[in-house]
Amino acid sequence: MRTIILRQPGLVSILTLTLALMLPVGAMADERKDLAFEVIDRNAQQMTDVSDSIYYFGEMGMQEFEGSKLLKDTLEAAGFRVELGGAGMPTNVWAEYGSGRPKIAIVTEIDALPGGSQTPGEFARKPLVADAPGHMEGHNTHGGVAAMAAFAVKQVMQRHNIPGTVAISYGPAEEQLASRPFIVRAGYFKDVDAVIYLHIRDSLNTGFGIGNYAAISSVFTFHGKTAHGAVNPWDGKDAVDAVVLMDMGFDKLREHLRPSYRAHRTITAGGIQPNIIADKGQIWWFVRDASMPAAKETYEKLVKIAEGAALMTGTTYDVKYSASAWPQLVSKTLAEAIQKNVDLVGMPKWTEAEHERAREFQKTHGLPVVGLQTKVTPLGGRPQATSSNDNGDVSWVVPAGSLNFPSAVPGVGAHEWKAAVFPTSSISHKGQVVGAKTLAASIIDLLTTPELIQKARAEFEVESKKTPYFSLVPPDAKPDVELNKVEMEKYRTDMKKYYLNKTPRFN
Ligand SMILES: [Zn+2]
Repeated sequence: MRTIILRQPGLVSILTLTLALMLPVGAMADERKDLAFEVIDRNAQQMTDVSDSIYYFGEMGMQEFEGSKLLKDTLEAAGFRVELGGAGMPTNVWAEYGSGRPKIAIVTEIDALPGGSQTPGEFARKPLVADAPGHMEGHNTHGGVAAMAAFAVKQVMQRHNIPGTVAISYGPAEEQLASRPFIVRAGYFKDVDAVIYLHIRDSLNTGFGIGNYAAISSVFTFHGKTAHGAVNPWDGKDAVDAVVLMDMGFDKLREHLRPSYRAHRTITAGGIQPNIIADKGQIWWFVRDASMPAAKETYEKLVKIAEGAALMTGTTYDVKYSASAWPQLVSKTLAEAIQKNVDLVGMPKWTEAEHERAREFQKTHGLPVVGLQTKVTPLGGRPQATSSNDNGDVSWVVPAGSLNFPSAVPGVGAHEWKAAVFPTSSISHKGQVVGAKTLAASIIDLLTTPELIQKARAEFEVESKKTPYFSLVPPDAKPDVELNKVEMEKYRTDMKKYYLNKTPRFN
């Protein structure tokens, strides 16, 4: 049948036309999705080559130079316009295909974590490079899945003359919450109709409601005056005393904060030696809450405490904005649309060997021995997580949906080395295929169903107005592009030995 079709294109068009006239709209939609699925199956290896390459780059936030270059080259070769370095960040990638509206963007990230280097497939702790960074949250998989899905959508848009634009935003330094507020401020989402957040999990799912916590991160530096600790301490002004008093001051405040708050800190400069009164003391704070106005209220009290600590010690202080993140406002309309594709694509067909490997791993690490997930997750609201993701800001300026794909083993927490064991495995690869298919099919629905965009927009107008968006970024603040630089450069040479040196090309 396939041979006949290929050799007689004329007959095909007549057949296709006749079929198209005979079939209901839904069947047409399926034909588009079938094409997207075909493209993804054909390019599965190329997709996972992208993701696996990024795993071995193991680059921390703002230092994703190899990863962003690979994505730029891959996507340009695939017919996308790619901008590298937008919003003042050299590793910020924005790629798009098509023109005009509707414009649908995938929002994701590819950064690794400090100390996460691990030999893939090894169940015991065995870094590839000692102390080096690595992918212990699997963000490497986002690289391939997003590019693959966008390429499949492009092929469908071309074949079926679908107007509009498909875009990908790979934001740097998600792990430090350091880029999205800047990307939003630079106006990248102004003409976008909807975004889909993409993330690795152990299941295929979407959801809706408020996800994640608001967070504000700032560094407080106190400046004092040195003196000999024994000879003339009365001449000194101790900046570390100010740090300690700030810490104690906030602890006194804790009783009077909403139960939903979170606050944590680390002392990043605590003096040099006991007999030198420190002229510099520094403390780095994270303040969080269920909503940004609530987090900001606590943060303003924290600044007052810094003022008080400076007053008590005769020191001065400055405060540097470090990062911020709004909670995610995830659209029910978009969740319902994505769920249809979650149900359509379904979970990967795991082999018994893959189940066994997952069980073995779970057993080794004292996790519940449940193997791999086999059923898709039904649609529903999700409890708000107390962690944060800086992509939250995007969802307050454009309707946002969310898609998680099953490339991880159940029970393994992110940010621990165990999560770096599977991101390049066959389990991850199969999960990436269903992730890319679900994502592509959902974008096709968004591009071809104007009512869906309108409904999501109407919902957004109501929901987003309940907490009007404001940016936490000070007007003169610039992204911290030096973030993680020194740390990354320490290891990059040794890590290079493990690079895959592949040049994936979608076709
Ligand atoms: Zn993540």
